[in-house]
Amino acid sequence: MTQSETLFQEAVKYIPGGVNSPVRAFGSIGSTPRFITKADKAYMWDEDGNRYIDFIGSWGPMILGHNHPSILSAVLEACTKGLSFGAATRQEVTMAKLICDIVPSIDMIRMVNSGTEAVMSAIRVARGYTGRDKIIKFTGCYHGHSDGLLVKAGSGVMTAGVPDSSGVPASVTKDTLTAEYNNTDSVRTLFKQFGEQIAAIIVEPVGANMGVVPPAPGFLQSLRDICNEYDSLLIFDEVITGFRLSLSGAQGYYGITPDLTTFGKIIGAGMPVGAYGGRRDIMEQVSPVGNVYQAGTLSGNPVAMAAGITQLTLLRDHPEYYTLLNDTSDKFFNKIKEILLEKNLPWQVNHVGSIGSLFFTGQPVTDYASAKTSDVTAYARYCNRMLDHGIYIAPAQFEAMFLSLAHTPEDLSHTLDAMCTCL
Ligand code: PMP
Repeated sequence: MTQSETLFQEAVKYIPGGVNSPVRAFGSIGSTPRFITKADKAYMWDEDGNRYIDFIGSWGPMILGHNHPSILSAVLEACTKGLSFGAATRQEVTMAKLICDIVPSIDMIRMVNSGTEAVMSAIRVARGYTGRDKIIKFTGCYHGHSDGLLVKAGSGVMTAGVPDSSGVPASVTKDTLTAEYNNTDSVRTLFKQFGEQIAAIIVEPVGANMGVVPPAPGFLQSLRDICNEYDSLLIFDEVITGFRLSLSGAQGYYGITPDLTTFGKIIGAGMPVGAYGGRRDIMEQVSPVGNVYQAGTLSGNPVAMAAGITQLTLLRDHPEYYTLLNDTSDKFFNKIKEILLEKNLPWQVNHVGSIGSLFFTGQPVTDYASAKTSDVTAYARYCNRMLDHGIYIAPAQFEAMFLSLAHTPEDLSHTLDAMCTCL
């Protein structure tokens, strides 16, 4: 038995399913989670000493790769000064100013501790600002595990085939309306019926929790237009896309201005951080200035801020990083398409910049329904073979593959060779 298998046997005794987050369970591919001991650059090592080329990157934040020396030394230095003060710090001002300077739609921002918290808080602000209760989300988009958003969510919920979670009262989700991704008509229909009651539309500007599903041309703009028409707010959940697709995230990449934006792990470079921000008049609703209450003991934690400030500053000061990452990723995902063509396999590759997915289906994947046509047993076989070849990809179909600046040309060509064999 491997060390990972032994640890997993112990883990299931004390932790539900042996894991602290369902997306890191390997159940859907009929395997055992690899227990990771360390990571560096584009690699991770498990308890059995196996090395993997990592295409998850802690689910997104490792844009610069694991263990970047500048981030590491900023964190170590912050640690020597105290782990948490629960008081205002200079670093929080630096972080807030950095993000407000970089992202034009953001005048003010509030730090929280996870993407879930960021979205939950942004929704509360949108409701407080508009005085309306209803929100629209899209089927297959995941916005964290808060009660009101666990409706037709993607990610682990989609893999498990559970559209809703038990323990969420119907009274909490009655104001969560769902529309279909890339389908403006489905949004218009809801607005025709409930327009004056809708506080906000929340959307992943690139769907990344039903596998990667790019927005169809004009889709995001149509959401902006509808929100303008009905005085509703547009919230971009950029937990995955923020500071990844471009310095100003998907909103910069597609040139659409949301009213509120949510960020997660990326702005903490892997430390537990999230944030929500947007227009000043909206953000001034937040306590202690306004009446929308939201708080957090560890919010703006100095160690997390040190990590995040360092990563964001590096990204801001090196615009060429985005050209490099996006060009390399384009080539990589196009190469996968070539492999499929050569092998006469009808499967689909979707990608935007450095996030992408391979779907085992013959039809284009543009929304939740088409994503669900993917053959998950084929994905499971493929994923296990890739792991055997030392390539660490998501142990579930409906997640993204993340490239980083630490992946070398050799890493990528080795991965393509492995794909060629495994497919
Ligand atoms: N929004 C999106 C788009 C996400 O992908 C995720 C999780 N990956 C979340 C929100 C929730 O973030 P967290 O897991 O940090 O709570």
